Amino acid sequence: MEQRKLLLTLFIIAAAAALGTAGTHWLASGENTQQDTVEDTRFLMDTTVDVRVMGHDAQRALEKAYAEMDRVESVFSRHRDDSDIGRINEHSGQWVEVSREAMELLQKGIDFGDLTDGSFDVTIGALVSLWDVGSGERRIPSHEEIEAAKELVDYRTVALDWEANKVRIPEGAVLDLGGIAKGYAVDRGSAVLREEGIEHGLINAGGDVSVIGTREGPDQPWRVGIQDPAQTNQVLGVAELIDTTIVTSGDYQRYFEKDGTRFHHIIDPETGWPADQVTSVTVVAPTAVVGDALSTALFVKGKAESQELLETFDDVNAIIVDKDGAIWVSPDLEDRFRLL
Ligand code: AMP
Ligand code: MG
Repeated sequence: MEQRKLLLTLFIIAAAAALGTAGTHWLASGENTQQDTVEDTRFLMDTTVDVRVMGHDAQRALEKAYAEMDRVESVFSRHRDDSDIGRINEHSGQWVEVSREAMELLQKGIDFGDLTDGSFDVTIGALVSLWDVGSGERRIPSHEEIEAAKELVDYRTVALDWEANKVRIPEGAVLDLGGIAKGYAVDRGSAVLREEGIEHGLINAGGDVSVIGTREGPDQPWRVGIQDPAQTNQVLGVAELIDTTIVTSGDYQRYFEKDGTRFHHIIDPETGWPADQVTSVTVVAPTAVVGDALSTALFVKGKAESQELLETFDDVNAIIVDKDGAIWVSPDLEDRFRLL
């Protein structure tokens, strides 16, 4: 499984490098200061995170961005007992004091629940644990187990006390911000790079990508390859992007296979089973939080309902690959996306 994630990440880097000229050093226009280009890949948030930065003091900016994403993980990981999310889960049924930052992202997750009629659900944890697709066990839960876990999944049951900075979930419920926290981390990492004066950069956390400015000169957009869900060592197209984010949810990112069927990590809260409408959804949105939550939600909704929902946004576009490999691209994205 780890290998798969690594492949995905490396592939996006490879696509970026092959499709553009991977700049190393250049002179900023009008200045005589040499700009550095630095890049690194580190393991964070259960995935590989690439950061590529150009500018003055690029290494320092890169280190600060990694430190910030590491900090975000320590707040939101449900696998750490001492994280805010870990503590809320540990003490389900009771009020738990958490950071303002945790309250705010949780509230955003809940808002996405409302916006998507529950396709995105921050309390999906009980079902995610039941399927446990990363464990290697490859066990399909029984009908009774799924029904019991579904009882614990409802984002509307999460209570927030903004005066006391406290959160309470029903006893036995499990918060899982895995569908949004990586996007948040990438947004925070990008914000730190910008604060450090970086004007050209890219962060890719296992498919959650934020690009800062152009690739280098004024007219060179970043070129990000969209992985082909059917052949994950190939890209199906390339998006040309400046100052935006692009996030993909795919059935090939984490899964197990049994008797020829793939059971993956995006669960439909209504059925309790892995969503089976499409194979990948890529969202281009102003922030990776929006892209992350919506790519997961649209994956659950499938093509027709996603198209309807997308019409309600001015600044969110998507590329949806359905089960038979048909690719649908938001009309507003057509001039920035090329099929290969
Ligand atoms: P992503 O890869 O961003 O689509 O997110 C998938 C991750 O989000 C899973 O690994 C779970 O942690 C969580 N998740 C799965 N299904 C849902 C859902 N319907 N709503 C919210 N989060 C989900
Ligand atoms: Mg997501």
